[in-house]
Amino acid sequence: MSEVLVLVDHVDGAVRKSTLELLTAARRLGEPSAVVVGAPGTSAKIRESLAGHGAAKVYVVESDTATDLLVTPQVDALALLAERTSPAAVLVSATAEGKEIAGRVALRTGSGWLVDVDDIAADGVATQSVFGGAYVVKSKVTTGTPVITVRPGAIDAEAAEGAATEEAVEVPVAEASKPVRVTGREPVVAGDRPELSEASVVVSGGRGVGSADSFSVVEELADALGGAVGASRAAVDSGYYPGQFQVGQTGKTVSPQLYVALGISGAIQHRAGMQTSKTIVAVNKDPEAPIFEIADFGVVGDLFTVAPQLSQEVAKR
Ligand code: FAD
Repeated sequence: MSEVLVLVDHVDGAVRKSTLELLTAARRLGEPSAVVVGAPGTSAKIRESLAGHGAAKVYVVESDTATDLLVTPQVDALALLAERTSPAAVLVSATAEGKEIAGRVALRTGSGWLVDVDDIAADGVATQSVFGGAYVVKSKVTTGTPVITVRPGAIDAEAAEGAATEEAVEVPVAEASKPVRVTGREPVVAGDRPELSEASVVVSGGRGVGSADSFSVVEELADALGGAVGASRAAVDSGYYPGQFQVGQTGKTVSPQLYVALGISGAIQHRAGMQTSKTIVAVNKDPEAPIFEIADFGVVGDLFTVAPQLSQEVAKR
């Protein structure tokens, strides 16, 4: 069975959920091989999670510089391993960084690249949702090693046993990667809330929230549901909420179990970032708002009346 290379996304010694989803998708195509690029000791901390999701092999690419150089260590590692193992595919999470890595790997290996994939079948046919979910496109890479970025949350992670046999890989540091160095990392504090693209519940606010202060209504519902807070671009541009929480075409892509849209009209660019959510709940005072076209449950009403009631009801349970 061919190997399928999965780039491991990890933070603070833990594997991100999106990597476990990639391992699940990889099992449909062949035998998953996890590629861990990080500081010395990273693989030891996360090997168990990888084994518990079917990783047959773990390629360990560890060095002191791996975390100081922007994306190039991951690109170099994947390109080298793709050449060495001729895998059935290379899977990377469709985060901003993941897409940059995957694009470079595809170019380096002369391969086709599929972006923002929602699903992959055993025959390598990938499903993408385009034009704000108006069309579903099915595509397959026909040149080189398929390089595929999968939307976080689109595929459910399933546990499976894997040997996770470790193999150390030496990847020389390319000259081209040296001019830019990461000089510091600071966590973006969002309280105890989960990270937006990893969260199973996302509560987003739009222009209808009306002010930065009023965003507390959105935060309260998110906290009651144990979810992350998101925002539309109009809310971000109006200064109601910071840009890193923007959901949509030019923001983050999310695919949680539950997405609650408060005072968001449902423009195509917003939908592009959330329409693959499993259940969508919309609260909007305009019954004609386009968000209701894709909502599983809709409440026509004032968010300042509905959201606090929802928060109270959830808190009681
Ligand atoms: P509006 O469209 O103004 O909608 C506000 C809604 O709130 C209305 O439906 C109104 O009925 C409702 N409302 C008002 N008051 C209340 C109340 N008290 N209770 C309940 N409902 C209320 N947008 C994104 O979100 N993400 C993107 O990544 C993004 N990228 C873009 C990229 C490009 C190239 C372009 C051109 C646009 C992009 N946009 C993006 C902008 C997008 O087109 C919309 O302008 C934006 O999504 C609108 O945000 P909104 O729904 O919050 O605001």
